[in-house]
Amino acid sequence: MHRFFVPPSALAATPILLENGTLHHLRTVLRLSVGDELILLDGGGALCHARITRMGKKQGLAEPLARWSEEEHPLRLHLLQGLPKGEKMELVLQKGTELGVKRFTPIFSQRTQRVKGGAKAARWEKIVQEAARQCRRPSLPSLDRPSSLVEALEKEKAPLKLMLWEEGSVPLSQVLPCEPPSAIAFLVGPEGGFSFEEAALAQEHGFLPVSLGPRILRSETAGFTLAAILQYLYGDLNSSPVPAAAPR
Ligand code: SAM
Repeated sequence: MHRFFVPPSALAATPILLENGTLHHLRTVLRLSVGDELILLDGGGALCHARITRMGKKQGLAEPLARWSEEEHPLRLHLLQGLPKGEKMELVLQKGTELGVKRFTPIFSQRTQRVKGGAKAARWEKIVQEAARQCRRPSLPSLDRPSSLVEALEKEKAPLKLMLWEEGSVPLSQVLPCEPPSAIAFLVGPEGGFSFEEAALAQEHGFLPVSLGPRILRSETAGFTLAAILQYLYGDLNSSPVPAAAPR
Protein backbone atom coordinates (compact mmCIF):
# COMPACT_ATOMS: atom_id res chain seq x y z
CA MET A 1 0.00 0.00 0.00
CA HIS A 2 1.26 3.50 -0.79
CA ARG A 3 2.66 5.52 2.09
CA PHE A 4 2.87 9.25 2.47
CA PHE A 5 4.15 11.66 5.12
CA VAL A 6 1.80 14.45 6.21
CA PRO A 7 2.25 17.10 8.95
CA PRO A 8 1.58 15.76 12.50
CA SER A 9 -1.36 18.17 13.00
CA ALA A 10 -3.02 16.88 9.80
CA LEU A 11 -2.56 13.23 10.79
CA ALA A 12 -4.03 13.77 14.26
CA ALA A 13 -7.29 15.24 12.87
CA THR A 14 -10.43 13.48 11.58
CA PRO A 15 -10.90 13.66 8.67
CA ILE A 16 -7.26 14.05 7.62
CA LEU A 17 -6.64 17.10 5.49
CA LEU A 18 -4.58 16.53 2.35
CA GLU A 19 -2.94 19.75 1.32
CA ASN A 20 -1.93 20.93 -2.11
CA GLY A 21 1.59 19.45 -2.27
CA THR A 22 0.39 16.12 -0.89
CA LEU A 23 -2.57 16.05 -3.28
CA HIS A 24 -0.37 16.72 -6.27
CA HIS A 25 1.88 13.79 -5.37
CA LEU A 26 -1.02 11.44 -4.62
CA ARG A 27 -2.76 12.30 -7.88
CA THR A 28 0.04 12.64 -10.40
CA VAL A 29 2.81 10.43 -9.02
CA LEU A 30 0.95 7.69 -7.16
CA ARG A 31 -2.18 7.95 -9.41
CA LEU A 32 -4.55 7.66 -6.46
CA SER A 33 -8.15 8.85 -6.51
CA VAL A 34 -11.26 8.94 -4.27
CA GLY A 35 -11.90 5.55 -2.69
CA ASP A 36 -8.23 4.50 -2.73
CA GLU A 37 -6.57 3.53 0.53
CA LEU A 38 -3.11 4.47 1.72
CA ILE A 39 -0.96 4.75 4.81
CA LEU A 40 -0.34 8.25 6.11
CA LEU A 41 2.52 8.92 8.52
CA ASP A 42 3.49 11.92 10.64
CA GLY A 43 7.24 11.29 10.60
CA GLY A 44 7.33 10.73 14.35
CA GLY A 45 6.06 7.15 14.48
CA ALA A 46 2.27 7.67 14.16
CA LEU A 47 0.62 5.91 11.23
CA CYS A 48 -2.90 5.82 9.87
CA HIS A 49 -4.52 3.52 7.34
CA ALA A 50 -6.90 5.87 5.56
CA ARG A 51 -9.31 6.07 2.61
CA ILE A 52 -9.37 9.11 0.34
CA THR A 53 -12.87 10.64 0.42
CA ARG A 54 -12.34 13.89 -1.45
CA MET A 55 -9.85 15.25 -3.95
CA GLY A 56 -10.57 18.89 -4.74
CA LYS A 57 -8.34 21.25 -6.70
CA LYS A 58 -6.48 22.56 -3.67
CA GLN A 59 -7.50 20.27 -0.81
CA GLY A 60 -8.48 16.69 -0.23
CA LEU A 61 -9.73 14.61 2.68
CA ALA A 62 -9.02 11.11 3.94
CA GLU A 63 -11.07 9.09 6.41
CA PRO A 64 -9.00 7.24 9.05
CA LEU A 65 -9.65 3.49 9.10
CA ALA A 66 -7.03 2.43 11.68
CA ARG A 67 -4.42 4.27 13.67
CA TRP A 68 -1.33 2.83 15.31
CA SER A 69 2.25 3.71 16.12
CA GLU A 70 5.55 2.08 15.24
CA GLU A 71 8.90 2.53 16.90
CA GLU A 72 12.25 2.23 15.25
CA HIS A 73 15.12 0.36 16.83
CA PRO A 74 16.48 2.59 19.63
CA LEU A 75 20.06 2.77 18.27
CA ARG A 76 20.71 6.41 17.41
CA LEU A 77 23.14 6.71 14.52
CA HIS A 78 24.34 10.24 13.83
CA LEU A 79 26.26 10.77 10.61
CA LEU A 80 28.45 13.85 10.51
CA GLN A 81 29.29 14.04 6.85
CA GLY A 82 32.02 16.27 5.39
CA LEU A 83 30.18 17.90 2.51
CA PRO A 84 31.07 16.17 -0.74
CA LYS A 85 31.04 17.92 -4.10
CA GLY A 86 28.05 18.30 -6.41
CA GLU A 87 25.03 16.13 -5.82
CA LYS A 88 26.75 13.49 -3.69
CA MET A 89 25.22 14.71 -0.43
CA GLU A 90 21.87 13.69 -1.90
CA LEU A 91 23.11 10.13 -2.25
CA VAL A 92 24.43 10.21 1.32
CA LEU A 93 21.02 11.32 2.62
CA GLN A 94 19.08 8.83 0.53
CA LYS A 95 21.18 5.78 1.34
CA GLY A 96 21.81 6.87 4.93
CA THR A 97 18.05 7.08 5.46
CA GLU A 98 17.65 3.57 4.05
CA LEU A 99 20.34 2.36 6.43
CA GLY A 100 18.52 3.77 9.43
CA VAL A 101 20.66 6.84 10.20
CA LYS A 102 18.61 8.93 12.65
CA ARG A 103 20.40 12.24 12.29
CA PHE A 104 22.51 13.88 9.60
CA THR A 105 24.81 16.84 10.05
CA PRO A 106 26.48 18.15 6.87
CA ILE A 107 29.93 19.47 7.83
CA PHE A 108 32.03 22.26 6.39
CA SER A 109 35.68 21.39 6.80
CA GLN A 110 38.93 22.71 5.34
CA ARG A 111 38.58 20.67 2.18
CA THR A 112 34.89 21.20 1.41
CA GLN A 113 33.41 23.76 -0.89
CA ARG A 114 30.65 26.03 0.41
CA VAL A 115 27.14 25.26 -0.85
CA LYS A 116 24.15 27.58 -0.96
CA GLY A 117 22.33 26.46 2.21
CA GLY A 118 18.71 27.54 1.59
CA ALA A 119 18.09 25.98 -1.80
CA LYS A 120 19.79 22.72 -0.83
CA ALA A 121 18.00 22.40 2.52
CA ALA A 122 14.54 22.12 0.95
CA ARG A 123 15.74 19.61 -1.63
CA TRP A 124 17.62 17.58 0.99
CA GLU A 125 14.50 17.43 3.22
CA LYS A 126 12.52 16.11 0.26
CA ILE A 127 15.12 13.45 -0.49
CA VAL A 128 15.12 12.24 3.12
CA GLN A 129 11.32 12.11 3.15
CA GLU A 130 11.13 10.22 -0.14
CA ALA A 131 13.78 7.73 0.98
CA ALA A 132 11.98 7.17 4.31
CA ARG A 133 8.69 6.63 2.45
CA GLN A 134 10.24 4.21 -0.01
CA CYS A 135 12.04 2.12 2.62
CA ARG A 136 9.02 2.18 4.97
CA ARG A 137 10.56 3.92 7.90
CA PRO A 138 7.91 5.00 10.40
CA SER A 139 9.97 8.02 11.49
CA LEU A 140 11.88 10.66 9.61
CA PRO A 141 15.56 11.17 10.39
CA SER A 142 16.48 14.71 11.36
CA LEU A 143 18.61 16.84 9.10
CA ASP A 144 20.67 19.62 10.68
CA ARG A 145 21.67 22.74 8.86
CA PRO A 146 25.28 22.56 7.60
CA SER A 147 27.69 23.28 10.42
CA SER A 148 31.39 23.93 10.85
CA LEU A 149 33.46 20.98 12.01
CA VAL A 150 34.35 22.72 15.29
CA GLU A 151 30.74 23.52 16.11
CA ALA A 152 29.63 19.95 15.37
CA LEU A 153 32.44 18.42 17.44
CA GLU A 154 31.65 20.65 20.40
CA LYS A 155 27.95 19.79 20.35
CA GLU A 156 28.27 16.01 19.99
CA LYS A 157 27.22 14.10 23.13
CA ALA A 158 26.97 10.47 21.90
CA PRO A 159 28.62 7.91 24.21
CA LEU A 160 30.54 6.48 21.25
CA LYS A 161 32.14 8.83 18.73
CA LEU A 162 34.04 7.52 15.72
CA MET A 163 36.00 9.29 13.02
CA LEU A 164 36.72 7.49 9.78
CA TRP A 165 40.34 8.35 9.21
CA GLU A 166 42.37 6.61 6.57
CA GLU A 167 45.69 7.65 8.12
CA GLY A 168 47.01 6.34 11.39
CA SER A 169 43.82 4.86 12.77
CA VAL A 170 42.96 1.52 14.36
CA PRO A 171 40.70 -1.27 13.06
CA LEU A 172 37.05 -0.95 14.03
CA SER A 173 37.14 -4.19 16.01
CA GLN A 174 39.56 -2.60 18.49
CA VAL A 175 37.18 0.16 19.50
CA LEU A 176 33.67 -1.26 19.21
CA PRO A 177 32.23 -2.29 22.60
CA CYS A 178 30.42 -5.60 23.23
CA GLU A 179 27.42 -3.86 24.82
CA PRO A 180 25.31 -1.90 22.31
CA PRO A 181 25.78 1.85 22.80
CA SER A 182 22.58 3.91 22.88
CA ALA A 183 23.98 6.36 20.34
CA ILE A 184 26.92 6.46 17.96
CA ALA A 185 28.19 9.53 16.15
CA PHE A 186 30.43 8.92 13.17
CA LEU A 187 32.40 11.48 11.27
CA VAL A 188 33.24 11.01 7.59
CA GLY A 189 35.56 13.27 5.59
CA PRO A 190 34.83 14.91 2.23
CA GLU A 191 36.61 13.80 -0.98
CA GLY A 192 39.88 15.38 0.08
CA GLY A 193 39.68 13.89 3.57
CA PHE A 194 40.39 15.71 6.84
CA SER A 195 43.59 17.61 7.48
CA PHE A 196 45.87 16.44 10.29
CA GLU A 197 44.78 19.43 12.40
CA GLU A 198 41.13 18.52 11.94
CA ALA A 199 41.78 14.90 12.81
CA ALA A 200 43.62 16.01 15.96
CA LEU A 201 40.76 18.33 16.89
CA ALA A 202 38.23 15.52 16.47
CA GLN A 203 40.32 13.32 18.74
CA GLU A 204 40.48 16.07 21.36
CA HIS A 205 36.66 15.97 21.30
CA GLY A 206 36.59 12.24 21.96
CA PHE A 207 36.26 10.93 18.40
CA LEU A 208 38.18 7.67 18.00
CA PRO A 209 39.98 7.40 14.66
CA VAL A 210 39.06 4.13 12.96
CA SER A 211 40.01 2.46 9.72
CA LEU A 212 37.91 0.57 7.21
CA GLY A 213 40.87 -1.33 5.85
CA PRO A 214 43.53 -0.69 3.24
CA ARG A 215 41.33 0.58 0.39
CA ILE A 216 40.50 4.27 0.22
CA LEU A 217 36.75 4.40 -0.17
CA ARG A 218 34.83 7.30 -1.63
CA SER A 219 33.41 9.51 1.07
CA GLU A 220 29.82 8.30 0.57
CA THR A 221 30.87 4.62 0.40
CA ALA A 222 32.79 4.97 3.67
CA GLY A 223 29.76 6.31 5.56
CA PHE A 224 27.41 3.64 4.17
CA THR A 225 29.86 0.90 5.04
CA LEU A 226 30.16 2.00 8.64
CA ALA A 227 26.42 2.61 9.00
CA ALA A 228 25.72 -0.93 7.77
CA ILE A 229 28.29 -2.48 10.13
CA LEU A 230 26.95 -0.58 13.15
CA GLN A 231 23.36 -1.36 12.23
CA TYR A 232 24.25 -5.03 11.91
CA LEU A 233 26.13 -5.20 15.21
CA TYR A 234 23.91 -3.00 17.38
CA GLY A 235 20.77 -2.18 15.41
CA ASP A 236 18.12 -3.87 13.31
CA LEU A 237 19.94 -5.09 10.20
CA ASN A 238 19.73 -8.60 11.57
CA SER A 239 16.04 -8.60 12.56
CA SER A 240 12.79 -9.75 10.91
CA PRO A 241 11.27 -7.22 8.51
CA VAL A 242 7.48 -7.03 8.95
CA PRO A 243 5.47 -5.86 11.99
CA ALA A 244 2.79 -8.59 11.96
CA ALA A 245 -0.50 -6.67 12.21
CA ALA A 246 0.23 -3.54 10.18
CA PRO A 247 -1.23 -3.08 6.67
CA ARG A 248 1.48 -3.20 4.01
N1 SAM B 1 42.38 11.99 1.90
C1 SAM B 1 42.26 10.94 1.01
C2 SAM B 1 42.94 11.23 -0.28
O1 SAM B 1 42.62 12.21 -0.93
O2 SAM B 1 43.74 10.39 -0.61
C3 SAM B 1 40.91 10.31 0.75
C4 SAM B 1 39.72 10.74 1.50
S1 SAM B 1 38.37 9.60 1.33
C5 SAM B 1 37.99 9.72 -0.36
C6 SAM B 1 37.03 10.43 2.08
C7 SAM B 1 36.72 10.01 3.49
O3 SAM B 1 36.26 8.67 3.52
C8 SAM B 1 37.88 10.06 4.45
O4 SAM B 1 38.09 11.35 4.97
C9 SAM B 1 37.45 9.08 5.52
O5 SAM B 1 36.57 9.69 6.44
C10 SAM B 1 36.69 8.03 4.72
N2 SAM B 1 37.50 6.87 4.33
C11 SAM B 1 37.70 6.40 3.08
N3 SAM B 1 38.38 5.27 3.09
C12 SAM B 1 38.66 4.98 4.37
C13 SAM B 1 39.34 3.92 5.04
N4 SAM B 1 39.90 2.94 4.38
N5 SAM B 1 39.41 3.96 6.38
C14 SAM B 1 38.83 4.94 7.08
N6 SAM B 1 38.17 5.98 6.51
C15 SAM B 1 38.07 6.00 5.18
